[in-house]
Amino acid sequence: MPELPEVETIVRGLRSLIRGYTIENLIIRAESLVAYPPVEEFQEVLKGKTIEDIDRRGKYILLKLSGGKTLVVHLRMTGRLLVLAREVAYDKHTHIIFQLNKGLDLRFHDVRKFGRVYLVADGDYRPAGGLQNLGPEPLAPEFTLGDFSKALKGKKANIKSLLLNQSFIAGLGNIYTDEALFAAAISPERSADSLKEDEVEALYDSIRLVLQKGIAAGGTSFSDYRDARGEKGNFQEELQVYQQGGQECPRCGSIITKKKIAGRGTHYCPNCQK
Ligand SMILES: [Zn+2]
Repeated sequence: MPELPEVETIVRGLRSLIRGYTIENLIIRAESLVAYPPVEEFQEVLKGKTIEDIDRRGKYILLKLSGGKTLVVHLRMTGRLLVLAREVAYDKHTHIIFQLNKGLDLRFHDVRKFGRVYLVADGDYRPAGGLQNLGPEPLAPEFTLGDFSKALKGKKANIKSLLLNQSFIAGLGNIYTDEALFAAAISPERSADSLKEDEVEALYDSIRLVLQKGIAAGGTSFSDYRDARGEKGNFQEELQVYQQGGQECPRCGSIITKKKIAGRGTHYCPNCQK
């Protein structure tokens, strides 16, 4: 599933490729992906709108349109948002085609069809799933160590499940949570409120660092993730623990374990993550 660095990479690509373009027509081949409003209204309102800017909040892509509307895209598991020339053939997994001017298409491609699009009034995210309940952006300057520390107080849940909770902190998924906990040398099974001051600081720094590195590498591609140009990311080559079960820990040489924690396959070093 695309996480913050993958979505940020897509957003940056979209900004350079389709900012200022106008949606001339839509082809909707799978109506189930249009979550709000009803398909006819979705189609009608979008026609003629100009894409003024593209932004990100958590794992959501926000296309700011003329007329005070925002097109929200959530890629979920296998969604891709691709910019292609109209003459490029599309396959059966291409479900929505936004035909732009100058012969360009913005295409929503999704093998598993869990992705969703929403068309809302600017700032009114109520119809858009979990978007309105997102926690702070981990890379935003206003997200401080003090805020993070305060938010952890009294939380009995294990730290892994808390970091995955989008209303606690936005944008982290299984990959970057495992990598951040490894970088901070903290066990994913620790209760959140048991972290000492220096551990909280290490985790805060690690979260920001792994996300920044993930963005710098253009995201992590195993099978599905592609950026707006259809290119893979490279962060899979820099992963320390995620998908490294059975390998030697790069820090201490012990064997990395994979275990189900918070309902997710979690990778960690049982020796140096305390
Ligand atoms: Zn280790």
